[in-house]
Amino acid sequence: MKNLDRSLPDARLRLLSYLVIAYMVLAFAWWSVLLFIKNRDAFQAKAELMKIGMVAEGRVRTPQEFEATEAYQALLRQYRRQEWMIMGEATVFVLTLIVGIYFINRGYNREMQAAHQRRNFLLSITHELKSPLASIRLVLETLNERQLKPRQAKALLGNALQETERLDALINNLLLSAKLDSSYEPNFEPLNLPELLHELVEKIRTRHPEATLNLEIPQSRLPALHADRLGLTSVLLNLLENAVKYSQDHPRIDLRLWSSNGTLHLEVADQGIGIPKEERTRIFEKFYRIGNEDTRRTQGTGLGLFIVHQIVRAHSGRIRVLENHPKGTTFHIELPLQPPETQKNLEA
Ligand code: ADP
Repeated sequence: MKNLDRSLPDARLRLLSYLVIAYMVLAFAWWSVLLFIKNRDAFQAKAELMKIGMVAEGRVRTPQEFEATEAYQALLRQYRRQEWMIMGEATVFVLTLIVGIYFINRGYNREMQAAHQRRNFLLSITHELKSPLASIRLVLETLNERQLKPRQAKALLGNALQETERLDALINNLLLSAKLDSSYEPNFEPLNLPELLHELVEKIRTRHPEATLNLEIPQSRLPALHADRLGLTSVLLNLLENAVKYSQDHPRIDLRLWSSNGTLHLEVADQGIGIPKEERTRIFEKFYRIGNEDTRRTQGTGLGLFIVHQIVRAHSGRIRVLENHPKGTTFHIELPLQPPETQKNLEA
């Protein structure tokens, strides 16, 4: 209902602009027809005058003789030229109008979408900040007002700690996305990725004991990777948290790592709800979330995949979204094993 209210003025504005455009096109069409008629009348009047003059001078006797004269043919050519000119100008006008309308419409749609996403972001961020704060407050109030057994108190404190971690992750994402807009430069350093993966998998297992995480790392030693530790941690945490969030009750996640031809491959595959094909490029946009804030069940801000994409790009890598089998989503990341400067030196 709220959406309906909001879309009504938009629809009216659109209708009004279409009416103005239709009026302009009709007015121009009418002017073109009038110009055609005027041009024809002027031609007929000039030809008639010319004929009367020639007949009076005795140069022609029949209409056929008159139409064969060079003077009449020149007048006819001029008339046809003017007809083509009117048609040409009408076509250019209509084409300019169509192109103009197309660009205005595209800009308008983008602006509407951006406004919609900003609104969604504000709604979700408010909720994302309020709900952990409310939980922590409840825990503190309970501890303050009641004498609990140590075991109960520990469980409550565990919950509160989890909520603070959620807040911390959210604030990190907010800060990182602001930084990515302006000043992010990866700090390339030799990185032991298998070790980092083990660490993060353990973290996710503790946060989500209901999830099954399967880590596949090659037995042989991997070539050293140069990457930004904090950046890659954020990439992996966002992908793993999403894999849990967008799965049903018992998420099953496969995390794979391998290398080939100077490229490192990382895959996070889940068996969750999947991502429709038409949404697969849009999900990397800032604030973009599939569906609508009024109907969506999962919480989030639409910043996670934006951050992932920007960090992977800053590492000269690429990320793709694929279908997982039998269901779910696979995010596939490719990273060059050498930092970009070393690559340039090698190529030189
Ligand atoms: P959010 O905070 O909404 O999770 P993200 O930028 O991380 O924002 O993701 C953007 C959108 O992409 C999500 O709202 C969700 O609809 C979709 N998405 C991301 N990861 C997955 C996944 N593993 N499975 C299904 N949908 C996903």
